[in-house]
Amino acid sequence: MSIKTDIKPGIMGYKDVKIVCPICKTIETIQIPEIVVKESSSLTTIQVPRYRVCEHVIIPFIDKNFNVRGYQKVDYVIISDKHNEPRISIDNISLFSIKINIDYLLFVHLLYAIFHRYRVLILIDDKLYHKKQDLNIFLNYIFNNIFESEISIELKGVFKKKKDDYKEFIILDGKKVRNFKFANYDFSFEESLIKEFYSELEDKKSIINLGNRIREVNILCQKILKIYQQEGEGLRRSIIINHIENTHFVRISKNYLNFLIEVIKEYFNVEIVLAKDLLGDKLCEMWGNHL
Ligand SMILES: [Zn+2]
Repeated sequence: MSIKTDIKPGIMGYKDVKIVCPICKTIETIQIPEIVVKESSSLTTIQVPRYRVCEHVIIPFIDKNFNVRGYQKVDYVIISDKHNEPRISIDNISLFSIKINIDYLLFVHLLYAIFHRYRVLILIDDKLYHKKQDLNIFLNYIFNNIFESEISIELKGVFKKKKDDYKEFIILDGKKVRNFKFANYDFSFEESLIKEFYSELEDKKSIINLGNRIREVNILCQKILKIYQQEGEGLRRSIIINHIENTHFVRISKNYLNFLIEVIKEYFNVEIVLAKDLLGDKLCEMWGNHL
């Protein structure tokens, strides 16, 4: 049995495998390339990287029917990397009144702003003054050491007196956005993260999940940048997708890839030049540019 992490992309498909972290019990479904299991004589061992399922590296044994038969005992403790480890405690945080009183679109716009490296001001109702600290801790936790960000939170009453301080900020006020116009942007990825966050009722779990998803964006962007450095201009989408699916065990839709490429451009300041999507171009020709 050997640990396989760098699998050659094949034409075969992927199978869902349910992983339960043996340490923290987080449950997540990952996609394993079928070929890995087919080629293995008995049980297959794979290494699920950190922050794919949770903060732990997980090494499951998978049988021919794509069921997990056990997990390798990890004999060593990974020395936590101070730079990447959120150190902020979210144990005593309560988000109930934040979720009730703040429109979810505010958080969708916030994610957009952070992924595009904008400075942000969040306006909250004066009655939420006692939640300002919790909101602050929560935002620090999900972005800290992952995406550099400049986020201020002000009570609406206070903001009126110091508007001039925030001329260069995107101002988020409930559903409304001031100082900024979104140009034809598809928020579906940001929306999916925030919907998940709002629908998970357990505060700590919802924060950790959201933090993990944001971390995943960063990790995948770095991976794509690395592939791009190796392969250079004219990189094919399928190469990126295969590479990520085979090493990070996450399904990459075309939309998700487009989103990641956008974040790389706006946040990491690198424009990835992809190979022309011939089929897409063909369809545009056939249907006009309505696609
Ligand atoms: Zn875990």
